[in-house]
Amino acid sequence: MNYNIALLKGDGIGPEIVESAVAVLDAVGQKFGHTFAYEEYLAGGCALDEAGEPLPQATIEGCKTADSVLLGAVGGPKWDSLPGDKRPECALLGLRLELGLFSNLRPVKLYPALVGVSPLRADIVEAGFDILIVRELTGGIYFGKRGRQASKNNESEGNEAKNNESEGNEAKNNEGEIAFDTESYSTAEIERIAHVAFAAARTRSKRVTSVDKANVLESSRLWREVVHRVGEEYPDIELLDMLVDNAAMQLIRNPAQFDVILTSNMFGDILSDEASQLTGSIGLLPSASLGATSKGLYEPIHGSAPDIAGQGLANPLATILSAAMMLRYSFGLAAEADCVEAAVEEVLEAGCRTADLAGVGETNTEPLSTAAMTKEVLKCL
Ligand code: NAD
Repeated sequence: MNYNIALLKGDGIGPEIVESAVAVLDAVGQKFGHTFAYEEYLAGGCALDEAGEPLPQATIEGCKTADSVLLGAVGGPKWDSLPGDKRPECALLGLRLELGLFSNLRPVKLYPALVGVSPLRADIVEAGFDILIVRELTGGIYFGKRGRQASKNNESEGNEAKNNESEGNEAKNNEGEIAFDTESYSTAEIERIAHVAFAAARTRSKRVTSVDKANVLESSRLWREVVHRVGEEYPDIELLDMLVDNAAMQLIRNPAQFDVILTSNMFGDILSDEASQLTGSIGLLPSASLGATSKGLYEPIHGSAPDIAGQGLANPLATILSAAMMLRYSFGLAAEADCVEAAVEEVLEAGCRTADLAGVGETNTEPLSTAAMTKEVLKCL
């Protein structure tokens, strides 16, 4: 089969790590008889420099016509002083909206060879853990109504209505400026992300933990109701509710209890960064952003790492694993994805380490460069 992939190399280490993933995809193509064709587009700081905007129309069109999108990372100090709507990171939000990517999948797995890299005690993590965080990506507080208003002596209507439910509001002092952000979810938004989580659980250990704040937030109460309704369609999947504060604690106390974590945009943002650290290096973790079609946006969870850009020091494994997710979720090539993931596990077992992992576990080499680590993965493939 032929597959068209839009490549957004972006900034900093982006070009180096995308090059590694492309080499791996090409090797998979050779081994399994597929052709991957690539078209490069600008996104982020490099797009600002060359086209005057972080997400040029040509990039949006190119991503829409491609079968899938592989992104390195965007941003860097050169563009840090730009106003919010001109920053390289706007490209990410724009792409999610333009491509209708409402779910974000982040596998968080501790490789046995890297138990020593986790900040948690060995007795907590030595049995390993393998979590899939399913985060809603285009709703909630990041997209709700927000603003500022001048000081008011009286509470707003909404707050008055809730006063007898919340002691905190009685003590609220409204002097000075007021700023607000709104968390809101519709039934349809919750339903579609819940289906993603339950369907994913079917291919794993068949457990979904839905994380919310239903003891306080009305939006969370709707979240919980709808998730349970959707859950009835998946009687083979065990569903558990957990409040977000407890989930933050449980991730540290006993990460192995989780299989699929289903949660909202903001809670997912925070919990997935927390969980990522349990595996040690940010250079290992891939992600997929998916919508209603098979097209997805695949990227490592880390940023553009300007401090190590251009030096061949970047760990390419997160981007290589993102390419494996593309094979699995966009192209339905599960055996090919398994093969890439097994190759990554094998190089780690063999003691290959980039600088971010140097000194962890049974290493048998000096830290490897980006290119040398990629070569090891290719050898295993
Ligand atoms: P970062 O993830 O780029 O770097 C944090 C630390 O991790 C740095 O020390 C870096 O060297 C290291 N690191 C990151 N990826 C690595 C890899 N593959 N191998 C080895 N080490 C790695 O986060 P930051 O420094 O806060 O952000 C840098 C820039 O990236 C900022 O402009 C930020 O806005 C942007 N950013 C982009 C994305 C994205 O494109 N999705 C995500 C996060 C941050």
